[in-house]
Amino acid sequence: MTDMHLDGNALGALFIDLFGQEMTDQNGCCDACGAVNPFGRAVVYRDAPGDVMRCPDCGAVLIVAVRTETRLRVSIQSLRWIEVLE
Ligand SMILES: [Zn+2]
Repeated sequence: MTDMHLDGNALGALFIDLFGQEMTDQNGCCDACGAVNPFGRAVVYRDAPGDVMRCPDCGAVLIVAVRTETRLRVSIQSLRWIEVLE
């Protein structure tokens, strides 16, 4: 099995849906290891039926997003905080 993953930019549209602005250059802190990284640096696995975003440093699951025809369900898991520059 090949390790097929994307970077956090793959979820740019999701972040705009959630936060109303571009977030790939904003920082988040992994609750598992304490690493601070911009969302664009995260590791994304695009598997049906959803996307899984993992910490680029420790691999902890940060966000799971599942889209259906009528809904978007987002589980924010191992994120200690999200920082948005104003
Ligand atoms: Zn981590």
